[in-house]
Parts: sequence; C-alpha cells; structure tokens
Amino acid sequence: MTDPQDPKVAPSRGSVADEKLRRAELAGLDILDTGPEERFDRIARLAALIFDTPTALISFIDHDRQWFKARIGFNLCETSRDEAFCRYTLAYAQVFVIEDASIDPRFRDNPLVVGYPYIRFYAGRAIRGPTGQPVGSLCVIGHNPRGFDDRSREILRELALWVEAELARGVEEPGRLARTSHEGGRLVATADAGETIYEHIDRLLGVAAKANHRLAILHMRVDNLPEFKLVHDAGRARRFIGRWLNNLRNRNSDLIYIDRLSETAFIGVIDYCGSADAARRRCDALRAQAVQETRFDNIHFVFNTTAGMSLFPDHASSAAELVNKARLAHSTRRWGDRTALFTPSIALRSQRHSLLQERFETALLDGSLYFHWQPIFGNAGRTLVGFELLARWYDAQLGAVSPNEFIPLIDRQERLRRALVMNAIETAVAQLAHWQQHHDDPPDVAINIPGSEFYREDFPDLVASVLRRHDVSGAHLVFELTERSLIPSFAATAETMQRLRQIGIRMAIDDFGSGYSSIAYLTELPISSVKIDKSVVQQIDRAAQHYRLMQSIVDLAHGQNLPTVAEGVETRAQLELVTEMHCEYTQGFFLGYPQPLAQADALVAQQAS
Ligand code: C2E
Ligand code: CA
Ligand code: CA
Repeated sequence: MTDPQDPKVAPSRGSVADEKLRRAELAGLDILDTGPEERFDRIARLAALIFDTPTALISFIDHDRQWFKARIGFNLCETSRDEAFCRYTLAYAQVFVIEDASIDPRFRDNPLVVGYPYIRFYAGRAIRGPTGQPVGSLCVIGHNPRGFDDRSREILRELALWVEAELARGVEEPGRLARTSHEGGRLVATADAGETIYEHIDRLLGVAAKANHRLAILHMRVDNLPEFKLVHDAGRARRFIGRWLNNLRNRNSDLIYIDRLSETAFIGVIDYCGSADAARRRCDALRAQAVQETRFDNIHFVFNTTAGMSLFPDHASSAAELVNKARLAHSTRRWGDRTALFTPSIALRSQRHSLLQERFETALLDGSLYFHWQPIFGNAGRTLVGFELLARWYDAQLGAVSPNEFIPLIDRQERLRRALVMNAIETAVAQLAHWQQHHDDPPDVAINIPGSEFYREDFPDLVASVLRRHDVSGAHLVFELTERSLIPSFAATAETMQRLRQIGIRMAIDDFGSGYSSIAYLTELPISSVKIDKSVVQQIDRAAQHYRLMQSIVDLAHGQNLPTVAEGVETRAQLELVTEMHCEYTQGFFLGYPQPLAQADALVAQQAS
C-alpha cells in the first residue's frame, strides 16, 4: 500500500465500489446533519486539551463534503471534500500527520492553509463504522508546525476508537441538545429517549426557571413545504430539512432547541435577555435566516416561513400552554407581518372564535342563521335583475355577528363551510322555484361560494341534485367566487366551472380590484361577469385616478365580453359615474340594502306589475 505520509502520494477516493460501501455505511449511521451531541463534543474537547491544539474535529466524509459532528475552535459546519485533510486520513490505517502543511506540496495551496483556519499542523485518525468502513475522522489542528510522537499517536487512536464505540451505540435522536445543565450562561438539555417535544421543553423551562432565564417559544411554519415535498422524495426532503434546521442551530447559539412539531410546523426555543421586543427582534432575525436559500444534496430551495411566539415566564409556565399561545399568535398574523407576539387580547379573540364555531352549528338548525337579499339593478332603465344572498346571524347570547367575522372562521372547517353553502343553495333554489311559478321572468340569485368547494369532486352533482329536487333550471343561479379563495390551479377550477355551466349556472368573479386581481382569471376561466369591489367603486367620485382605475377595469372586462357589476354604490354621484362608464349593473345601499325575503319578494312583485 502507498504511504500517504509520503508527500508525493495523492489521496485516493478508493474504487467506485469501495466508495459505495463506505457511503452506505455512513448512511446507515444516520448521523449527517444531526445536531451536536455532548458525548461527541466531549471527546473532541478532550483531544484539544490533551494535544494542546486550538482545534479538534470529528468529521464525516459525505459524497462531496466533509461535515463536522463535533467542532472545537472551528467556525465552519462543513467544507468541501476536496479541501479536506481527512481524505488522506480516511484511506490510512494509522494516524496521519502533517507537521507543516505550508511546505507539503499537497497542502500548501489548500484554502484551509492559505486562509481560515490557517492550518499548519494536522493529526488525524480514521473513524470506522460498525462493519469497518472508514466514514470520517477525529483530528486535531494547530496554527504552528510541530511534531507528534508515538505516545500522542496512541492516545489519538484511543480517542478515535472511543468515537467509534459511541457511533456503534447508535445515534441519539437528532435535533436535541446536550444534557440538562446550565453551562457558561447557555441553557442546554439533552433528549431522553422517547421524550416528546413538550416533555423536553418542559425540562428546558425547569432549567430556565432555576437559572432565572427568559425563553421565547417560536411557532414557525414553512408555508411552501408541501410544494417542496411534491418535488423531492421523502428521504431527501427529510435530509434537506435536517440540514436547514442544523444551519439554524449552528448559527444561533441562543436557539437552544428546535424541532419539528408537525408536517409543516416547527418549534424553537430561544434563550433571550431584555424586553419582549428584544425577543421579537431575535425571532425576526432567526426567521430572516430561515428564509435564506439552503443548498444541499444538489437542491437549492428557499423556505417561506411565518411565525408566532410566546414568552416564558410571562405568558405561561408549561410547554403545552406556551406552544399553544405561540400558535395562536401565529394564526393572527397577517401576510408579510413580523413574528406575531402573543397578547392577552389574542387569547380573548381566540375564545370568541371557538365560541362562534361551536354555536354556528346550532345557528344553522334553529334559524338564527338566515339570509338577506340585496337587489342588483341594471344601469340602463333601473330594472331589478337579481339579488345577492348574504348570510346573517343573530345569536341570542352574542347578538348580531357580522359575516366578515364568522365567514372566515367557518371557511376553515370543512363541515361547517359545506353546511352553509348547501343551506344557501337550498334557500336560493327553493325561492327560485317559487318565483318561477309566479313570474314569467324570475330574477337571478347570486350566492357566495368559497373556492375550496370547487376542489370537491361532488360539488356540481350536489348542486344539480338540489335543482332537480325543486325542478328548477340553473339558468337563474350565479355563483360568486373571489380570486383569493381560488388556488391558482386554473385547470381544476375551470373544469368544475364547465360542469356547472352545463347545468346553466353562471360564475362571477367577486371583489375584483380588491388587491388580488389577476387578468388571468378573466381570460382563462369560463366566467360570465365581474363584480367590481366597493373599495374601487366608492372612490370614483373622489379622485381622478380612482375614476380611471374603475374605467380601466370595466374596459378590461368588456374586452373579454364580460359585463360588470359595481358593488357598494352609496351615492347618486357614484351611480351616475358608473352608468357613464358603461358598467352594466349596480348593487349598493343607494339603490337597495340587503333585506329580508318578504321585502325582496315584494320588490319582485312590484317589478312584475
Ligand atoms: P361580498 O360578497 O362582497 O358581499 C357584499 C358586501 O357588501 C355585503 O356585506 C353587503 O352588505 C355589502 N354592501 C353592499 N352594498 C354596500 C354599500 O353600498 N356600502 C357598503 N358599505 N357595503 C355594501 P356583508 O353582508 O357584510 O358580507 C360581507 C362578506 O361576507 C361578503 O362580501 C361575502 O364575502 C361574505 N358573505 C356574506 N354572506 C355569505 C355567504 O352566505 N356565504 C359566503 N361564503 N360568504 C358570505
Ligand atoms: Ca359576493
Ligand atoms: Ca363583493
């Protein structure tokens, strides 16, 4: 065998087959990108102490990088494999020593020699996995040339065998930090096997309470994780996420814990000093790092994260409560906001939300949830053309609850959402049946449909069955959809729309111009009209630019042969302006409030006579 101690010997990667075996052994250890563990840190610390070197490392050699499980006096979490001194160590049965790297032709130009960490002296011993494959190394590094006698070589060998023994013992659960203690101002706690996230955080809380430390609990969600997992297989995705978490751990010594809570949510614990605002700044900074591009395993990806946080001891003293409060705060954040900090008012709001969700079910049954009908008029001749059905809720205990409050809540619960939609459709179709019998030209009825209904296979069939039961055609039904409730899958949405059109139902885009508008909705979906949001309409008599905006939306729709409805017209001036713009229809308080069915019915009778 060639002796790598000879400066003329180049490192060998071994044959392809050898390298495959080696990598398989490494993969089996499942150690790459796991968190630091005290049992390995201790060996590295000891090595640095014994040999009096500034740096000691336990590294593993992956396909194209060397990654450090333990690193004393060293800032990088990994280096490229090509730069690694350990390439030589790996292929060598004995301790590999470079007394002065600056005069060894193989190393003198190495970036780790000419730049940080300015290696001069190196001594390393290979670490072998359970079947004897060399997977990594234990090494000590110094800035000055020096020798390494036989006794030192023997000690380094013993320490490396200790690392091997630890490896053979199995990997501790990744992501957990060292044994419960309070070392040098930094709180740490290692996982006990089988311990849950909550149990672990509870132990951290115990340590923090004793040491008088304050902790911030971060509930962070990766919003685009589902998309990431669509593209990459489970194993790679897991490793990539492991790497991402490790980057966060390695760069933030005050992030004393971070782990995955669910499919897309992560819990972090930050040891902080100072005010709540200081804690929030730390959480924001951490999130700023979390959204930096991660590169690993030939994948480049940027995770989008949002987060909420709660504080120990201010907000609660148990992990379950703190996590729950951080999650609650998170759920109140708006897009683009900073990390949302828990406040008592968030708790009150959440109590009200739970109460509303609870009571909504009964409201559907006992009639305290009902509909108002707001008339829609043609601008030419002021004729009644239809109504929009608007949900109303008067609760005996809570009083009137605005749809702006309860609709977003029940939209999150499939069962409630569907119950309301079907209730609205039933109400509209039953009334259309009545009008059909008594009038030659019954008005249209428009219903608000949450976009999520459009992804349910059976939705068009359910609608068709209601129509059949009442013997009503779909020709007088309009389904209103907001863009924000539709996922950007035009194909899926368009298919449902086509099926609904086959039974005569028309679709309208609602709230157009309210901030989510995209022209693609007008050109790519089979819709029949555009409802222009009141935020646009109500400004047209105030400033020229709003007038022009409204006019261009009307023109845009007309360009696609789509008539427009001006929503929220409250004054005569607004009505005149929308008419002047050739907007076809108007819905607004100026011409008619949302009203009980009896009044709507009277309006229809009056129009007919
Ligand atoms: P939307 O679909 O845009 O409904 C029009 C809203 O504008 C209604 O508010 C209506 O009362 C209001 N409005 C109409 N004309 C005027 C006006 O001249 N001035 C002003 N200031 N407002 C006017 P409402 O009834 O409070 O409903 C709010 C939202 O709640 C609706 O907005 C809709 O998104 C949702 N919603 C209401 N009922 C239902 C329902 O049965 N199902 C679903 N999924 N959503 C509903
Ligand atoms: Ca609407
Ligand atoms: Ca609207």
